[in-house]
Amino acid sequence: MERVALVTGGTRGIGEAISVALQNAGYRVAANYGGNDEAARAFTERTGIPAFKFDVSDHEATKAGIAQVEEVVGPIDVLVNNAGITRDGTLHKMTYEQWHKVIETNLSSCFNCSRAVIEGMRERRFGRIVNISSINGQAGQFGQANYSAAKAGIHGFTKAIALEGAGKGITVNTIAPGYIDTEMLSGVPPEILQKIIARIPVARLGEPEDIARTVVFLVDDAASFITGSTICVNGGQYMY
Ligand code: NDP
Repeated sequence: MERVALVTGGTRGIGEAISVALQNAGYRVAANYGGNDEAARAFTERTGIPAFKFDVSDHEATKAGIAQVEEVVGPIDVLVNNAGITRDGTLHKMTYEQWHKVIETNLSSCFNCSRAVIEGMRERRFGRIVNISSINGQAGQFGQANYSAAKAGIHGFTKAIALEGAGKGITVNTIAPGYIDTEMLSGVPPEILQKIIARIPVARLGEPEDIARTVVFLVDDAASFITGSTICVNGGQYMY
């Protein structure tokens, strides 16, 4: 049976690598995105994977968007909550808008998307949810009170719904990436990036495929004994 997977923010960066890896592993994949139509069009041309535009921070839009995905692609068996943004600033300069936008996009989105698929997963007694957190949600990061708080929230969210899903064939896990070479890092000045790499034991940035491989592993039917876990994919940086 071909399982259906939805990857939020699945058209660029880490999300694109996850979408492609799941497709290569035999899943029927739908990729969500937020606003970059050009990137989404190019992604679909490259991969043949359909892209669905809806704002995962908007509860009603997400409900409607996921209903559309299920109509076109089929009932969602695998959800990867990957969409995320940064709006950095130290607390004494951070605006409420920066705070709120990041909490809604990075954390409330996990509620919005998971809520929209959980009833179907419970009925079918199978589901896989993978939430993409960050090393900065584990360690905290200067200038990222909003991002660190949202990503830390994902860990509690994961464990709570892992408990709820455990008797229903649903597993829920978190991947906490270290620094991965995507556009998200393009705003980091080169001298800061060099300092970051110097603190990574394997001495390189991660590749999106490093995260994608971990997703494929976690969502497999055979990974049914792994739930409520955090897998750190960070080149040995900040070990737990
Ligand atoms: P990118 O900025 O490269 O891609 C982000 C993706 O999320 C895009 O597809 C974007 O859509 C989508 N997105 C953003 N906001 C929304 C929204 N409101 N609704 C729907 N989709 C949205 O990010 P990365 O690939 O680097 O990051 C992916 C995830 O990994 C994020 O959660 C990030 O926090 C996390 N992460 C990244 C790390 C890194 O070093 N890169 C390290 C640790 C964690 P669109 O194309 O339309 O803008």
